[in-house]
Amino acid sequence: MAGMLSFPDVGQDYPEKRAAEQRAEDFSEISRAYAVAKAEEQSSRCSQCGVPYCSTHCPLHNHIPDWLRLTAEGRLREAYELSNATSTMPEICGRICPQDRLCEGNCVIEFSGHGAVTIGSVEKFITDTAWEEGWVEPIVPGPAKGQSIGVIGAGPAGLTVADLMRTRGYDVHVYDRHDRPGGLLTYGIPGFKLEKHIVMRRVERLEAGGIVFHHNFEVGRDATLDDLRARHDAIVVATGVYKPRAIKAPGVGAGGVVEALDYLIASNRKGFGDAVPAFDDGSLDAKGKNVVVVGGGDTAMDCVRTAIRQGASSVKCLYRRDRANMPGSQREVKNAEEEGVEFVWLAAPDAFHDSKGEVAGVQVAKMRLGDPDASGRRAPERDAGSEYRLDADLVIKALGFDPEELPKLFNAPELAVTRWGTLRVDHKTMMTSLDGVFAAGDIVRGASLVVWAVRDGRDVSERMHAWLKTKAAARAEEKAAA
Ligand SMILES: Cc1cc2nc3c(=O)[nH]c(=O)nc-3n(C[C@H](O)[C@H](O)[C@H](O)COP(=O)(O)OP(=O)(O)OC[C@H]3O[C@@H](n4cnc5c(N)ncnc54)[C@H](O)[C@@H]3O)c2cc1C
Ligand code: SF4
Repeated sequence: MAGMLSFPDVGQDYPEKRAAEQRAEDFSEISRAYAVAKAEEQSSRCSQCGVPYCSTHCPLHNHIPDWLRLTAEGRLREAYELSNATSTMPEICGRICPQDRLCEGNCVIEFSGHGAVTIGSVEKFITDTAWEEGWVEPIVPGPAKGQSIGVIGAGPAGLTVADLMRTRGYDVHVYDRHDRPGGLLTYGIPGFKLEKHIVMRRVERLEAGGIVFHHNFEVGRDATLDDLRARHDAIVVATGVYKPRAIKAPGVGAGGVVEALDYLIASNRKGFGDAVPAFDDGSLDAKGKNVVVVGGGDTAMDCVRTAIRQGASSVKCLYRRDRANMPGSQREVKNAEEEGVEFVWLAAPDAFHDSKGEVAGVQVAKMRLGDPDASGRRAPERDAGSEYRLDADLVIKALGFDPEELPKLFNAPELAVTRWGTLRVDHKTMMTSLDGVFAAGDIVRGASLVVWAVRDGRDVSERMHAWLKTKAAARAEEKAAA
């Protein structure tokens, strides 16, 4: 078995990649053997219970017990092939799925109090091994269909559609407003959770398979939706959700009160070795600062853990509900606490203090939980007279994201949206209100998970393929009749 990981040539070198290569070189046969033994040991804990709740609670319905059994028997290649059959990026989901809420949280061994099989880690291990061993096949496009599709957005939903449609023989063009593909895999999720070379080697495989990427191409600025519809036989909108939810409090405009995604993108760009003026001048660097992150979701967790790694003096996370009612993963909270983050539960920012235009502190109001609101969750209420001040040199707003106004942005007023601003699709066809325009991922679901984006990409590919086949047949009939 090879002792070294290999990395694709993605046309550039960057510190994280070099560091990873160095670590790979240091990866001895002993630790390799240990990793194999660990994966086999975990896999052999699967009781093959016959009621695979793990699979039913995996959005991809991965054949988990079967690939665990193959791993336990040391048949890693077959395990990989089975896992790869239902997922376009198993090593990525294995790293970043909230398994405690999905497959592992529904393992019968977990129910019996003995701790779940570590399904995500095994999935990561077998697919990483497949890359090392050269078992990951290149894309071999099917017979050319003579039809082309345009994918707007190179996140996990768009990349999945691109992969599966190219394999079926379509010409595929992917448009993204960023300079690198991957969506939030590249510029949202921090490198300590998802190493960037893991994402880039997937992208490299897609490029090698003939998928054409148009970087720095923003639909709405560089083309309208109609322009793309004229270029392609079908379109998939997979643009994610990027409008940050605002905080309405005096002083929120002070310098040093920043958006979570600006902060995370800057940090991820540094990981690639890019020049990032707003990081280099200190504005988006937490080093030596008292950092306050506002929010209780996974984005907030990524911000606090990034700030710790950048060498912040202190990191506090303000959340207006209590620990039991926070939306983020409890596992992430535990990790963050172990790393030194202080959680301030039942607390919300009332105002931001500044010194010469730069934030200097947060006026915090204590909250308590009142009666359930329309969503069924107990609504936070202000505890009058409870305000106090926290010092802060950097405040990161991480309250979540809503969809941008796509009909306006795309100059397509007839593109129907829901009352939340997500794209309205027919759930049978996965088509929007516009003929031949499909949609997938967060722009349909609202802020969700990578594994759901992959699932949507898979489903849209099937529906789109069926639709394109009918269209091609109708065209052929018309031609024959003419
Ligand atoms: C900070 C953060 C951390 C997260 N951590 C996790 C995690 O640990 N595990 C997990 O499962 N999920 C996590 N998520 C959620 C997950 O990343 C998303 O659910 C998933 O990426 C959605 O995939 P998508 O393909 O729909 O959209 P995205 O990944 O958002 O990709 C959309 C792409 O569309 C492009 N785009 C947008 N508008 C245009 C336009 N007009 N023209 C051209 N291109 C455009 C964007 O540049 C982007 O590349 C996290 C989210 C955030 C914000
Ligand atoms: S894709 Fe996610 S939920 Fe499904 S098996 Fe893998 S880690 Fe579990």
